[in-house]
Amino acid sequence: MSTKIYETFRPEETFALGRTLGEQAQAGTVYCLDGDLGAGKTVFTQGFAAGLGIKEPVNSPTFTILQVYDEGRLPLYHFDVYRIGDVEEMDEIGYEEYFYGEGVCLIEWSALIAEILPPEAVHIRIDRDPHKGYDYRQIAIEEAGSGERGE
Ligand code: ADP
Ligand code: MG
Repeated sequence: MSTKIYETFRPEETFALGRTLGEQAQAGTVYCLDGDLGAGKTVFTQGFAAGLGIKEPVNSPTFTILQVYDEGRLPLYHFDVYRIGDVEEMDEIGYEEYFYGEGVCLIEWSALIAEILPPEAVHIRIDRDPHKGYDYRQIAIEEAGSGERGE
């Protein structure tokens, strides 16, 4: 398990961090994004999509849990599960096809579906710190290490 901590002071910096990860993303990786409303999950996702070479606008789908973007280097499956009532809704979407598919998954509010997340998922948590200013964000990226899980 390795955790990297980043700090951003403007939305553009969060976008840029997302873009870097999008450039490096490999097929089959599931990225879990958590943090309060307005933390910057969608800003990060927009950068990530840009890093994959996706040009169409990416925003949080309010009424659909999943949005698929096919025009980039890899397919991007953007989930926003904020409004999910029950994990069974993920079964109805056929989530396994996406989690274990050829593209990259990015899941906003992943904690709401914790029980179905793959153990090897990359967890990204965005937090504010009121002492450090309105636009400050701490972004922690935790990757499951090879083999060991720190339980
Ligand atoms: P979420 O998807 O987590 O609910 P959004 O990405 O939709 O949040 O919104 C984040 C909001 O916070 C945007 O209005 C953005 O401009 C603002 N913001 C301010 N500072 C930052 C920062 N450092 N990183 C990301 N977003 C920031
Ligand atoms: Mg969002």
